[in-house]
Amino acid sequence: MIAENSDTVSLPVMEHFYTLQGEGFHQGKAAYFIRLGGCDVGCVWCDVKDSWDASKHPMFGIETLKQRVKETPSEIVVITGGEPLMHNLDALTTALRSAGLKTNIETSGAHPLSGHWDWICLSPKKFKAPLPGILPFANELKVVIFNKTDFAWAEEYAAKVSPACKLFLQPEWDKAATITPLIIEYIKANPKWELSLQIHKYINVP
Ligand code: SF4
Repeated sequence: MIAENSDTVSLPVMEHFYTLQGEGFHQGKAAYFIRLGGCDVGCVWCDVKDSWDASKHPMFGIETLKQRVKETPSEIVVITGGEPLMHNLDALTTALRSAGLKTNIETSGAHPLSGHWDWICLSPKKFKAPLPGILPFANELKVVIFNKTDFAWAEEYAAKVSPACKLFLQPEWDKAATITPLIIEYIKANPKWELSLQIHKYINVP
């Protein structure tokens, strides 16, 4: 792929596409996804390991990315990764907002918060803990459940985010058949939580 780096600030982009948000609070809404390269969190079950090495991905100028989004009717841009907060996202989010777009992020919180956000989805990972600074700003806490001990770990973070933060439990994809029934029972017993499914994988969209 040819690098698109005509403007001054650029970021490594693994892929960008217009689809439906498959997870969490905004599940089912049309959204333009920008998946940035680079991650040092190292989740063993990561389903986007190709994103880890930022140098493998072409640099895209911020204005170019904004134009790509504006070629679609999308109202929401989701910045994901990789771990997007490995990059300073002030300029990108300023540009997207100046075009009237809502800026959402999906992050492990393991790097300092930058950018201007309409929605912060914090998905903490055991492999590299979130920095405390992001916790009060999370609009949504989405915890991937891989085994039974993850419920107690999820509660640790539920106690640290703001009272208004939405709480979601999501089965790890490869364990979904065995973990989802446990999550259902857990949510019935602890109704502050909601179920998040990766519906994009069920409906075969990116
Ligand atoms: S934080 Fe996300 S991209 Fe990074 S290793 Fe974990 S699941 Fe993969």
